Amino acid sequence: MIWLVLLLFFLAGSAPASVQKIGPDLYAYISENDASANSTFLISEKGILVVDTGLNAQEGRKLLDEIRKVSAAPVRWIVNTHYHPDHRGGNSVVGPEAVIISTAFTRTQAGSAAAGYALNETLGAKGLTLYVGSHEVQIYHPGPAHTMGDIVVYFPDEHAIATGDLFLTNSCPAMDQGDLENWIRALDQMLVLPVEHVVPGHFELAGKAEMQSFRNYLAELQTQVARMYKEGKSLKQVQKVLRLDTYKNFRQYPRYEATFKDNATAYYRQLQKKKAQ
Ligand SMILES: [Zn+2]
Repeated sequence: MIWLVLLLFFLAGSAPASVQKIGPDLYAYISENDASANSTFLISEKGILVVDTGLNAQEGRKLLDEIRKVSAAPVRWIVNTHYHPDHRGGNSVVGPEAVIISTAFTRTQAGSAAAGYALNETLGAKGLTLYVGSHEVQIYHPGPAHTMGDIVVYFPDEHAIATGDLFLTNSCPAMDQGDLENWIRALDQMLVLPVEHVVPGHFELAGKAEMQSFRNYLAELQTQVARMYKEGKSLKQVQKVLRLDTYKNFRQYPRYEATFKDNATAYYRQLQKKKAQ
């Protein structure tokens, strides 16, 4: 029995979440389990900004405990990078009084009634600049990518960026109804920023090299699938012929529909949809 308990404990991920200081007042919170997303928090005397809050109340509590080791200031702003529950399930625990910042799409998908700002997705609005104490925070919607309403948070003073699920370290992403071609453009825009620290939606804290590798994976996938689609190959044929050996060290998760084949399928469907429009 004890072995079973130990095994379950091990499978659930026994290591604590890691908190890494990536600027004078900026911290990356790297979740110890795959099911809950990473977070980023920026401290000021007047209040704290948190990007993403984890899967649920329990994960939110873990995050808040870590925040409280650094600051007792109130959590005033929460950015939800997109609507998936693993990025916003801890909102009510982490910042019950916080103003929620997301896109209108995310707000609708989440069924949120909380006070907040919604970045406009259609009127060409680039985003908003928020000042947290003396720190500038640039929050913007790069267009449809991982979902139809993603947000990226750039900290220019700290040379850091929180990407949500637009970037995962050494991993295939899950692909919702978004836009792979624009996703690659969004990564290219991030890659020209003077950034040292990249907080991914999941897995280890990274830098530009890992983001570049992830971008190259998506671009390679896009090129191969688009070519075969144009040649009239069926989805089954595409899945069979697809070659992505360069990225065989990437994590693949069938249960999250995050494998080479799943990614090819998602993009193939996007191409079909675009053609039908
Ligand atoms: Zn996601």
